[in-house]
Amino acid sequence: MTLLSVQNLTAGYGQARVLHGVDLTIEEGEAVVVLGANGAGKTTTMRALAGLIGFGGRVEFEGSPLAGLRPDAVVARGVSLVPQGRGTFPHLTVLENLHVGAALRRDKRGIKEDIERWCGVFPVLAERTGQAAGTLSGGEQQMLAVARALMSRPRLLLCDEPSLGLAPKIVAELFGILATINREQGVSLLLVEQNAELALALAGRVYLLEVGRVIASGTAAEFREDETVRRAYLGY
Ligand code: ATP
Repeated sequence: MTLLSVQNLTAGYGQARVLHGVDLTIEEGEAVVVLGANGAGKTTTMRALAGLIGFGGRVEFEGSPLAGLRPDAVVARGVSLVPQGRGTFPHLTVLENLHVGAALRRDKRGIKEDIERWCGVFPVLAERTGQAAGTLSGGEQQMLAVARALMSRPRLLLCDEPSLGLAPKIVAELFGILATINREQGVSLLLVEQNAELALALAGRVYLLEVGRVIASGTAAEFREDETVRRAYLGY
C-alpha cells in the first residue's frame, strides 16, 4: 500500500520558489532516501511535508491530503519530523523532551511504555533522563531528537540529515537504530542524507533531487551501480 504520495510538489520562501514539482512515493514499510547537493531543496521538501511551510501540488498520506494541515495536525496523522540540527529543547530534560514528543497523546500508560521502549533502544538516553538536553553531546541530542519524534507513534518518520556533525562511530550506531526501527517497528522512513554511502546501506529506494526537481530515482542497488551517481555521490 502506498503510504505517502507526492505529486508536483512546489514550495519556496516568499517570491523564491525552491521546489519546482517534486514527485515521490513511499510504500508502507519502506526506507527511502533523498540525495542531492546543497541547496537542491531537500530540507524544503521535508518542511513542506511536515506542514511547516505551505506548498502546492498533491500530497496524500494514507490516501488523504495533507495540504493546509498545521504541523501538529500532520503529527496527529502519523508523520513526524526529525529536523535538521536536532531542535531539541535545551533547557528541558531528556524526559521532558520525550513528553513534548507525546504532547498530542492522552494515553498516559502508553506514553510511559513508549518512554521505556525508546530508552531501551537508546541506552544513552536512559542514563540521562533528568539531564538538560542542552548539556548532551551532539550524538546524544540526535538520538533524543529521533526518540522524541517517535513518541508520537508515527507511521512515517522524516529524518533530515541525522548524521550531520556527528562522529562516524555515533553515525553508525544511529543508522543501525534507524534500520531497526524501520524493519522491526514498522515505521517507514524518508531520509535526507548527504552521506550517500550510509544512506544507500539503509534505504531500499532513492530519489535524486536537483534544483527542486527529482532527476532520477531507483533502487539503492541500481544507484550504486550507476557510474554518474557513484562519481558524484560516492566518490569512486
Ligand atoms: P542543504 O543540504 O544545504 O541543507 P537542501 O537541499 O536541504 O540543502 P534547502 O535547505 O531546501 O536545501 O534550500 C533550498 C534553497 O532554498 C536554497 O537556495 C536556500 O538558500 C533556500 N532557502 C532555504 N531556507 C530558506 C529561507 N528560510 N528563506 C529563504 N530561502 C531559503
